[in-house]
Amino acid sequence: MQVILLGPPGAGKGTQAKMLTEQYGVPQISTGDILRAAVAAGTPLGKEAKTYMDRGALVPDEAVTGIVRDRLTEPDCQAGYLLDGFPRTVAQAEALTRMLKELGTSLPTGVSLDVTEEELIRRLAGRRTCQACGEPFHVEFHPPRVGGICDKCSGNLIQRDDDQEETIRRRLQVYREQTEPLIGYYQRQGLLKTVKGLGDTGDIVCTDIEGPRRVRRSNCRSAVP
Ligand code: ADP
Ligand code: ADP
Ligand code: ZN
Repeated sequence: MQVILLGPPGAGKGTQAKMLTEQYGVPQISTGDILRAAVAAGTPLGKEAKTYMDRGALVPDEAVTGIVRDRLTEPDCQAGYLLDGFPRTVAQAEALTRMLKELGTSLPTGVSLDVTEEELIRRLAGRRTCQACGEPFHVEFHPPRVGGICDKCSGNLIQRDDDQEETIRRRLQVYREQTEPLIGYYQRQGLLKTVKGLGDTGDIVCTDIEGPRRVRRSNCRSAVP
């Protein structure tokens, strides 16, 4: 399974990626998580990335594309992968296509999560993220079992610096200007599926094939290739 999760900040890409990873055993490649880890480790890449991330801008294409190229050549990506937060510009999408051709693997399906702007703001403002594993929670829609603690790894939950109202608005604007054109880009190549990103998280991009839960829901077949 090779999937690109597309959608604005707060659409649920990380949430869906974590569920699909558990179900299919393919790795989640989240450029946001990789960049935040580099920032926390204080690497040169992290220092550069932080200046963009703090203002809700995109990190330059070359830096992010290099991260993904390195990651995709690791052995665990051979059976498939879930790209979460990459590509985010047409230049990144073109670089990805070139990279996959070089690796001789097929092109991924883009799954676009459709969520209203009002809902995105509610989700981002209430999001709490595990500092250790990146698992997303929400103060109202998906609270942890124990306040402030990750259900999965017992890490601390924090509010991301860029989940403040002003930065949220900036990120949504950046999405509309630079990332939304990818929907048309993948649609024109016949590589896009759109699903409603509202409702129970298990109903969105869930699976109905050979997964341990064997769930059957209305939009699963069309979403997961
Ligand atoms: P969200 O899940 O809210 O959409 P991410 O965790 O994917 O946010 O990204 C957080 C920030 O990391 C972005 O605002 C941007 O600064 C940077 N970033 C992540 N992925 C990319 C990318 N593919 N290209 C450029 N910048 C990126
Ligand atoms: P993205 O990676 O696209 O930025 P996340 O997966 O981090 O989005 O989700 C953003 C916030 O919305 C998180 O707080 C998450 O718990 C919450 N969320 C995700 N999916 C849903 C859903 N279907 N209904 C309500 N809240 C959700
Ligand atoms: Zn955790």
